Amino acid sequence: MFRTRQAPSPTGYLHFGTARTLLFTHYISRINNGMWYLRLDDTDRNRLQPDAVGSLLESMRVLGLIPDEGLSPDKKGIKDDFYNVYSEGEYGPYIQSQRLEIYHKYAQQLIDQKLCYWSYVTPEIKEELSTFKQITKKPIDYFQANLQILSNAPVTEKTKLTNIESELELFQSVSKGLNDNRKPDLKFRINQDRIVENDDMLLGKSKFDLNLEEDFTVLKSDGFPTYHLAHAVDDQLMNTSVNIRSQEWISSLPKHIKLFEALGFDKPVYMHVPPILGETGNKKMSKRDGNVNMEDWLKKGYLPEAIVNYLSFLGWNPGTDKEIYLDIDDFVLDTTKTIEENKSIRLRKLLDNISQDFSIDKMQKSPARFSTDKLNWFNKEYLKMLSPYEFAYLSQKNKNIQQLPAPTRIGDYVYMVDVDNSRILGGYDNSTTVMSGVDGIFYPIGGGRGENQDSIESLLREISEETQDTIQVDAKELLFIEQLNIPWETSKEFNSKQMNIYHLIRSESNTKPFINIEDYNKYSNTWASLNSVLGNNSYLTFPIYNEFCKKNNIKAPKLDSLSESKIISSILDIPRRVTLIDDTSESSIIHNYNVPTQDIVKWKKSTIEETLENLKVLKPTIKTILDSVKNQKINLSKSVFSPHTLTEFTKLSAEIENKLKTNLKENDMDFGAHLGPLRIALSGLERSPSPFELLSILDDTEIFNRIDNVIYPK
Ligand code: GLU
Repeated sequence: MFRTRQAPSPTGYLHFGTARTLLFTHYISRINNGMWYLRLDDTDRNRLQPDAVGSLLESMRVLGLIPDEGLSPDKKGIKDDFYNVYSEGEYGPYIQSQRLEIYHKYAQQLIDQKLCYWSYVTPEIKEELSTFKQITKKPIDYFQANLQILSNAPVTEKTKLTNIESELELFQSVSKGLNDNRKPDLKFRINQDRIVENDDMLLGKSKFDLNLEEDFTVLKSDGFPTYHLAHAVDDQLMNTSVNIRSQEWISSLPKHIKLFEALGFDKPVYMHVPPILGETGNKKMSKRDGNVNMEDWLKKGYLPEAIVNYLSFLGWNPGTDKEIYLDIDDFVLDTTKTIEENKSIRLRKLLDNISQDFSIDKMQKSPARFSTDKLNWFNKEYLKMLSPYEFAYLSQKNKNIQQLPAPTRIGDYVYMVDVDNSRILGGYDNSTTVMSGVDGIFYPIGGGRGENQDSIESLLREISEETQDTIQVDAKELLFIEQLNIPWETSKEFNSKQMNIYHLIRSESNTKPFINIEDYNKYSNTWASLNSVLGNNSYLTFPIYNEFCKKNNIKAPKLDSLSESKIISSILDIPRRVTLIDDTSESSIIHNYNVPTQDIVKWKKSTIEETLENLKVLKPTIKTILDSVKNQKINLSKSVFSPHTLTEFTKLSAEIENKLKTNLKENDMDFGAHLGPLRIALSGLERSPSPFELLSILDDTEIFNRIDNVIYPK
């Protein structure tokens, strides 16, 4: 059975490159009729960020990257309280910090085999050894160095030693070493004088000279194994046949080969995936470029479909012209499902489609170069496939999220209130976390883990007990509150309901706690706004489903005050956007219209009088044309869930253009002198979409009102 895995470390958000490796892992397991599991490599305690795990899994979920086993972005299986994540599968625990006893057992085995020794090399001594290494050009001999340390001799000289070697090698057990107050770490004694070979699934055969290798740590003095030992043990015990990982690990491969051999394990097949280079192509895409955090890309308004499709092409190519791996029909919304459900079905399809074309011989052995332009191209292509409804929904959601202050820590928790079921769902701070069936979002922050959840739960319990009613929360109030910069206070100071509510307030800084209630009141405008909601009604109110959803019996999302006409008018924005949150908002002219002055409407080569006369003359023509396309217009406004609406709209607008221009030509009328003023009259703006687009989207009555308001100003 082909079993592979990914094992990210919880040191931060989902890295762009890791996401790409995850995708390759998915495809390769699919083409081999295999599976992949997700493990958490959390043995590096210095770099640990517990809150990051949730955010990592959430980004994976948003991208449709659902492992077959192990940690579960879908929140299935056994819950781990420390990280607040779930996992399922028979090889657990899938979190390395919960497997220490297992690693200790294998470390003991290596000690018993006399393949390990305790090392007393301090950082200072290590530095000395490294300097010496530069002179001798030979790998550091840690074993010898330790013999010297134990005999109090300088580490860089050969001294005559007695009896120490046997002490070093033999007298120890894992527990003894870990309790030694000199804090040694356990080193693996690499057997030198040998060449080892490997046949990489992607890179092919290579040889490594063990003479060049240094002894390496398998167990650190804190009792945690290093990656070397932990991954070897887990890959074996979790029955892993293939290990797909980034190329940075290739230099450790000889160590790993040796270790697998020493432990009597079957070495998995390795595939080392080359890195992604930054835009300039001369270095690895890194944090410095500010573009490696997956959450950021999602927040910036890039669609998961575009990201997945683009990433798949970074280091793989089907060798055909095909680039977009979904069809427009995959974007038809099933309104009995939520947008999230629609999205996850679609992403699964995208992954399946790419898997079908994927093959290892079409993978690149050299690094791929990241290009924002290309990603933008993918995003534009996918935006054009969205139905107006989904586009409007996603744009609005992303905009709301944009307005929130940036999280002060990665992985700030988000809590969502499911009004219908009076439940709180724990989630993570991610632009795309808004779940179906969830009616409010809180972004509490600060304090210890779990603290926020408790306080919100007790708050909501309190509220619901008081009102004996379902919980209602005013999202607008909360979002408003969250935008204020209020320092975080730990829960100690306030022991009342106020404190609990306080936890709902997002803070920008957790460095300056409130000292007392007076201080707190300095920020009381925030408090007041929430208090008024709470005080008057004893509950927070939240607009649940908007009218549109209700009317159409849609299970899907809540769009604040997004009316039907707003949804359909977003059709003007779709083709003009690169991301969901670009500034261009052509559709706003449908709803925020100001009658333009006659000066603005005036055609440059005509007088105001001539311009107005031209508009008058156009009216009956426009009426005839609009009557002839009435049905198309009605159909258009009904097709908010269809991705074909944009095409229909473009067709309609072209037809109107054609009819209008034919008419002008027949009557020997100048295009510019008529169409320019018409466009400005309809949009109210000097720059705007074409008059044909506006005639296609605006209501007929509205069209004539706008023209008349210019001709006969009030
Ligand atoms: N935790 C390791 C990393 O993030 C995993 C490498 C592997 O897949 O074995 O690089």
